[in-house]
Amino acid sequence: MQVEKQGQDYKTKDGKYVWHHMKGAEPNPGTMVIQKGQGAWITDVDGNRYLDGMSGLWCVNVGYGRTELAEAAYEQLKELPYAPLTNSHIPAIKLAEKLNDWLGGDYVIFFSNSGSEANEIAFKIARQYHQQKGDHGRYKFISRYRGYHGNTMGALAATGQAQRKYKYEPLASGFLHVSPPDSYRNSEDESGEKSAAEIERTITWELSETVAAVIMEPIITGGGILMPPEGYMKRVAEICEKNGVLLISDEVICGFGRTGKKFGFMNYDVKPDIVTMAKGITSAYLPLSATAVKREIYEAYVGSDDYDRLRHVNTFGGNPASCALALKNMEIYEDEKLIERSKELGLRFLQEFEEIKSHPNVGDVRGKGLLVGIELVEDKQTKKPIELSKINKAIASCKEKGLIIGKNGDTVAGFNNILTLAPPLSITDEDFSFIVTTVK
Ligand code: PLP
Repeated sequence: MQVEKQGQDYKTKDGKYVWHHMKGAEPNPGTMVIQKGQGAWITDVDGNRYLDGMSGLWCVNVGYGRTELAEAAYEQLKELPYAPLTNSHIPAIKLAEKLNDWLGGDYVIFFSNSGSEANEIAFKIARQYHQQKGDHGRYKFISRYRGYHGNTMGALAATGQAQRKYKYEPLASGFLHVSPPDSYRNSEDESGEKSAAEIERTITWELSETVAAVIMEPIITGGGILMPPEGYMKRVAEICEKNGVLLISDEVICGFGRTGKKFGFMNYDVKPDIVTMAKGITSAYLPLSATAVKREIYEAYVGSDDYDRLRHVNTFGGNPASCALALKNMEIYEDEKLIERSKELGLRFLQEFEEIKSHPNVGDVRGKGLLVGIELVEDKQTKKPIELSKINKAIASCKEKGLIIGKNGDTVAGFNNILTLAPPLSITDEDFSFIVTTVK
């Protein structure tokens, strides 16, 4: 009784004072006020428990309730809560070394606070890098429709989802988009050559000397788990190299084991010039992000002029407690072999869901690691996306049974029909079975 009353009080005040992300001023009775988390499970203020099949926003990779992460932050806060990275501090040094190691070398790391910011910094670094080399005309960026790269004016300009930009334009200029690869809807492009050729054509037609970089997620996540043909990213990397264009891999979701490798690009035999990361770097216990650049990019930032430096500072980026926590978080991935587990469980999910492919409304089941998409269609032949109300019903039915799953895609493109699963990499076998039986 007491729990119910308190829960109601929180919800009333929540409705009054908290502006929820992606929401307007409408009353929103569906909102959960979450109070606790343990393992893959969260509990709301009414005492309802759910398995968080989306790891929050694809980020609580090692699961909830890790006291060792809280302790790592606590110890660091006592030792030194803050030092700007115009100087340096020990946790940032150790973390940069470890990230470089995970990336397979040879990268230098710039720390910030969010995925959007990591991408903004990547754009600034790429533009200035070309200038540093005397290549003054390169300022354009190419990304794919349906890709999401963040909410700030540059990252949103790179985003290829019109519904997120509408009413906020004009955004940063110089951002171009091409079609995304999609092994379900464009299955004839088996090698990825056709999708990659669109990038090459855009570079050529825009005048290659004006293009600074291509940014992509190895697998488009929020846009609906769009699996690229296996050879696509490698082909794009070759095209970029041939044209003097940098390749930025947005690993904000795909990094830190989500796709069964340390970073998503590692599935595709490429070595991006710039790698951006956030979310899984701390499993979202504290804010932190990073932009890793190949050493030769960093080394272009030399010269006698004040303008030869990267003139970017942010107060909180690389906060010592966030870095100390991130190091401990990376130890957990290693000690518990969570990346290997992500790969193995991902394959098991695809096997288990093989049978739901015969359902008349399941067009496709796909994914890599603990990143799974189930595309729902009205008709398997035409691949017409299923009605939104039916998807919402499926999501509500999972929630009633105690499982949170996601819905992703792109409303303007007409594809908002992909159910998504991205549970913590630490899910137990029992959690795995619960997800499978609930979704089936
Ligand atoms: N890039 C990708 C691929 C993302 O999915 C996101 C967020 O979901 C971002 C960038 C932006 O990250 P943040 O929300 O931390 O700014």
